[in-house]
Order: sequence, then structure tokens, then C-alpha cells
Amino acid sequence: MSVAARIEDAVASQSEASRRKWARDEALALYGAPFNDLLFQAQTVHRAHFDPNAVQLSRLLSIKTGGCPEDCGYCSQSARNEAELSASKLMEVERVLVEARKARDAGATRYCMGAAWRSPKERDMGFVVAMVEGVKALGMETCMTLGMLSPDQAGRLKAAGLDYYNHNIDTSEAHYASVITTRTFADRLETLDNVREAGIKVCSGGILGLGETAQDRVDMLVTLANLPEPPDSVPINMLIAIPGTPLEHAPKVDPIDFVRTIALARIMMPTSHVRLSAGRTEMSDEMQAMCFFAGANSIFVGETLLTAGNPEEDKDAVLFQRLGIHPMELKVEVETIEVEAPCASMAAAAAE
Ligand code: SF4
Repeated sequence: MSVAARIEDAVASQSEASRRKWARDEALALYGAPFNDLLFQAQTVHRAHFDPNAVQLSRLLSIKTGGCPEDCGYCSQSARNEAELSASKLMEVERVLVEARKARDAGATRYCMGAAWRSPKERDMGFVVAMVEGVKALGMETCMTLGMLSPDQAGRLKAAGLDYYNHNIDTSEAHYASVITTRTFADRLETLDNVREAGIKVCSGGILGLGETAQDRVDMLVTLANLPEPPDSVPINMLIAIPGTPLEHAPKVDPIDFVRTIALARIMMPTSHVRLSAGRTEMSDEMQAMCFFAGANSIFVGETLLTAGNPEEDKDAVLFQRLGIHPMELKVEVETIEVEAPCASMAAAAAE
């Protein structure tokens, strides 16, 4: 079949694409297709599902930094790594809401809150539930990343109004144990199941630059695309090599391969938001432009991404202007409900 016919075929079947099962060899062939063919197909699929010039803006706040018991080889927040990062306690609910309001006023439509935990403890649940309720009342979409979740915890977060839960699978199943040993790939998938079963939208993606092969990248996307439902949001990160972590000296990712991965994610998960996530500080404007053309339609804004740098908002605004890109609007009603302040005992526990 000619390239043009294959593209026509792909576009014609795009409505089924989010439900179809992908084969590894089929996905690998797409990943290795001539670059222009791959990008044309990705852009064609993208246009069929999204405004091609709109990018969703999310703001990320670290509500509890460092001291994590997990051993993710890329992460400065692992207590087992030697990165210079001091651990903090869980942030107060009021402070989170002040920051969320600022983010909303600056144009962010989704507020993501991340805590460096293996999983939330019972004593933390009341606080994170209050954070979700408070951010939701500001009229923003809410997202949390707190580590592994039980079905009960997922249900409580859903009841509080949580829209998205981020839990990245990071890499392929085959490469996973080379990067993390304190939990398994299956643990990750179990939490994704619990989140989806609770009715929360899944945000799950991975990181490039962990010493993985092209097959690992493709396999990671095949796992995501073949979930019972593909994630609503797929962050694709480029490793920020942090001194003191085992991956400090990992070889850099070829920018062309990074763009290929974005394009493949767009084709395999046509209705998902593909997020150009960590690593943008090391990307040129031209590389970011290629990623948007390949189908990335979400970014994090703000100067920090949990603990690493992110391009300043002015720089993003200038790039958007140069590319004719505008922020994606969120059509939600701003609720005017009052959020109850956490009770004194909760505040005391947070300060522990
Ligand atoms: S990536 Fe998350 S789970 Fe892994 S060490 Fe860092 S904070 Fe902990």
C-alpha cells in the first residue's frame, strides 16, 4: 500500500483508533517510517480530533517534596538517591489554594498537585481531599499524583471531584526493572485500573532518556494505547539528568527520536491530550514547534516542574505568538461554593 493510501486508511479508521489494539511490530514500523510521512500522518490525525493551534496549559505544584522511599533512578526526590534536595512536609491546604488561584488567573485550566509518596497514608487523605475540593471550586480541572492508590482511595478522590490522576508507567515493561526496583510494572498498571474503575480520568505516560531502546519506547506506547481505555492525557517527558541520581550521565535523547515518539503517541491515541512535559528547558523553540506539529497539545507552565526547571511563562507566550498557538479553553462553570477550612486536628497533623 502506498504511503498516501496508508494515511487515508489511518484517517478513515481514526474513530476506531482509540479502541483498537496495537501490535508491537505495526507500531515499530510507524515509529521508523520516513519522518515526513510519520509527521504528516500524526498531524492529519491530530486535526481530525483537536484544534491544531490550541494547546492546553497545566500548572504543577509540589505539595510534598522529597524524602520518597521509592528508588526511581531519574528522580531527585528519592531518599535513596544523592541529589541535593531537602524534604518538605505536606503543604497546607490554604497555601495550595492561594497558588491555584494565581495559576487560574494566569490562564492555567488544570491544576496538578504532586506528592513524593509511595502511596498516600490515611492521615494525608483528608488534606488531599480538601485540596481537590478547593481547586475544583475555583473552576479548574484537578489532577493529582500521589503514588499508588487503593480502590478506596481512588473512590474518595473521585467523590471530592478529582478529574485526573497521573501515574506514569515510565518505560517499557522489559526496561522497567533497570530504572526502578521498589515497585513493579504490574503495580503501576494496578493503580491505573483502580483510578479508571473509580471514574477518574487517567494521565499516564513516560520518560525518554532512561537508557531505553526504540523498541522500549514503542512498547511503552503500545501498553498505554492498549489499556482498556487509552489514557486521557499522555505526558511524554525528556529526562532531566540530575546530579546525584543513577541516571545523571545517561546519554541524551536524539531530538528527532523524541519528535517521532510524540507523533506515534498522537497516532496511537488520537483523542488523548499528548503533553510535552519535563525537559522543555533543554529543547529549542524549533524542537518544541516540531512536537506541536507532531501532535503535542498540552504543556506545563510555570517556572518549576515539581523540582526541576521549566521555561518561563514569558518565553512560552513569545513562542506561542510566533507559532500562532493559543491556549485551549476550558468550558466549565466556576462554582461559588465555600470550601471548609480543614479542622484544627488536620492542620496539626499536616504540620507533623
Ligand atoms: S518519581 Fe515519584 S515515586 Fe519515584 S522517587 Fe520520585 S517522587 Fe518517588
